[in-house]
Amino acid sequence: MGKRVVIVGGGAAGASAAARARRLDPEAEIVMLDKGLFISHAPCGIPYYIGGVVKEAQDLAIYTPPEEFAKERRITVKINAEVFDVDTKNQVVYAREGNETVKYQWDVLIIATGAKPITLPVEGHDLNGILTLRLPHEAPKLREEVEKASTVAVVGGGYIGLEVAERLGTSVRGCSYLR
Ligand SMILES: Cc1cc2nc3c(=O)[nH]c(=O)nc-3n(C[C@H](O)[C@H](O)[C@H](O)COP(=O)(O)OP(=O)(O)OC[C@H]3O[C@@H](n4cnc5c(N)ncnc54)[C@H](O)[C@@H]3O)c2cc1C
Repeated sequence: MGKRVVIVGGGAAGASAAARARRLDPEAEIVMLDKGLFISHAPCGIPYYIGGVVKEAQDLAIYTPPEEFAKERRITVKINAEVFDVDTKNQVVYAREGNETVKYQWDVLIIATGAKPITLPVEGHDLNGILTLRLPHEAPKLREEVEKASTVAVVGGGYIGLEVAERLGTSVRGCSYLR
């Protein structure tokens, strides 16, 4: 039996690691788990999805459906599979898949879960209508809120904030930009 490689996270890092692991070891059993709906995705397109240039959220993923990526490389890909525990002693991860908890044994574990946006350090930072922007599977909720809004404030003045403000400036009546 080949080595069991479990990869948590199917973004750019996770998908590259999975492809590389396959190239290095044709016998390995490779499993890639992602809590979202997409793998090998491109968060850089989210501002254009919110602004309506990219029509469907699934167009932000390179491999939709993920079976294509899985079949080409003989990798087991699970979406909607959120890893919530890692048992390093027994070399097992636990994933929530719908109502089920599924256990995956690993010889090699790769954690590629990305980064999280920093929320505002104020009470009420998670009220309805206050959202962060990070992953393609979260983008439909953002677009829905933007479509209901008459004004939008973008907090964060890096490239991503700028891109969002620029896109919204073309689709929303009032868009303020805070830095
Ligand atoms: C709007 C925007 C624009 C950007 N533009 C650019 C650009 O123009 N150029 C550029 O180089 N970079 C850009 N970036 C940055 C780029 O998207 C990131 O550097 C890249 O996505 C990082 O890849 P990653 O695989 O490390 O993490 P991520 O893309 O964050 O992927 C992590 C994956 O892990 C999954 N995950 C997290 N926790 C769990 C868990 N517990 N169980 C299972 N799965 C889990 C997530 O669902 C996700 O799919 C942009 C980012 C954003 C948000």
